[in-house]
Amino acid sequence: VAARLTPPAWDLHPEVAAWPGLPPLAADATADLCVVGLGGSGLAAVDWAVERGLDVVGVDAGRVGAGAAGRNGGFLLGGGARFHHDAVAHWGRPAAAEMHRLTLAEIDRLHRRVGPDVVARTGSLRLAGLPGSPDADEVADCERHLAALHADGFAAEWYDGPLGVGVHLPDDAAMHPALRCVREASRLIGRATLHEQTPVTGFGRSGRRVHVRTPVGVIATSAVVVCVDGGLERLLPQLAGRVRTTRLQMLATEPVAPVLDRPLYARHGYDYAQQLPTGELLVGGGRDRFADDEWTTDCAPTSPVQAHIEQVAARIAGGPVRVTHRWAGLVGFATDGRPVCELVDDCVAAAGGYDGTGNLVGPLAARAAAALAVGADPEPWPL
Ligand SMILES: Cc1cc2nc3c(=O)[nH]c(=O)nc-3n(C[C@H](O)[C@H](O)[C@H](O)COP(=O)(O)OP(=O)(O)OC[C@H]3O[C@@H](n4cnc5c(N)ncnc54)[C@H](O)[C@@H]3O)c2cc1C
Repeated sequence: VAARLTPPAWDLHPEVAAWPGLPPLAADATADLCVVGLGGSGLAAVDWAVERGLDVVGVDAGRVGAGAAGRNGGFLLGGGARFHHDAVAHWGRPAAAEMHRLTLAEIDRLHRRVGPDVVARTGSLRLAGLPGSPDADEVADCERHLAALHADGFAAEWYDGPLGVGVHLPDDAAMHPALRCVREASRLIGRATLHEQTPVTGFGRSGRRVHVRTPVGVIATSAVVVCVDGGLERLLPQLAGRVRTTRLQMLATEPVAPVLDRPLYARHGYDYAQQLPTGELLVGGGRDRFADDEWTTDCAPTSPVQAHIEQVAARIAGGPVRVTHRWAGLVGFATDGRPVCELVDDCVAAAGGYDGTGNLVGPLAARAAAALAVGADPEPWPL
């Protein structure tokens, strides 16, 4: 498998391709709150702050949604990175249940804000093993998963169908991630000052003001929230040891016959796929098989992982597939399984480290971190 880098297949959407871009920062600026990173999380923080009347400057090193937020699997799953029974064991039942409730509510919010063509209320399917090769140990884990969801009153059903056996979660959804970022950013234009192609190089202080440094100018601000998932510890070295950057890879195929009517995650969620209405399969995963190589800040796809996910794609399609796009993105893994949502300095907060599932947890963490940075009443954050 030749792992040539292409843009994410998501970028083909006409509205994403037509994104006109935002001007880079051209001179020094001032703000009540500076939001660093304009992925799904940063855009949620910007929105939160402008709703409260704050003067907001948001900056991104690249394009809106240029990071993981615009190049991911598009799964909107209730809860955090762990399945509910594991989350209960790790975080405790009240926190795990609250995270599940808040993320489901976040699906409703996103659906309202960006529209049903971006967020489709399909439900999701966790499969035990890969299609065609069920895994007995994972079947037992799916049973525990289902029982834990039922114990907390969440909708879930046993699935036994053409793909295998597992758990169907009817309240989950499928999303076009790049379109989500473009739509959210479009809604904020004119309400906040947003700049693309504006990398933050560091932070300083002058009196009570925080200075956000960029190659062109300084943003003097009362508060900062850093909403960067992959690469967070590079920008905030004090978080090294708390979060670690890793690469996740995906591919897209030419259209195949309809096989998936909702997002599918298999083999304990390590492999995942969704099929677009136009037939293309978008498949990711395999990180666990090559974990040592994937702890990296290099965003290029690699042959071993791509060969693995191509096999997964073929298994789902029921025969060989033709791959059109191969890409990767960077995410942060929290070393203790608890995403970062905290002050890292006076009036400087950070959000990130979602263990590969930040589409919904990210906005929650970002709003809570923004509230910490500006000293507002706390926003819901279960951990
Ligand atoms: C292949 C892949 C598949 C995934 N699948 C799913 C999934 O199906 N469901 C799910 O929930 N999650 C998934 N994730 C994880 C999810 O994409 C992320 O957790 C989430 O998008 C993080 O969003 P964010 O806005 O917090 O961060 P990011 O998307 O990382 O955005 C941070 C932004 O900050 C910018 N930035 C970085 N450094 C600087 C700097 N120095 N100065 C200024 N700007 C900077 C970047 O350009 C970027 O735009 C996946 C990730 C990948 C890579």
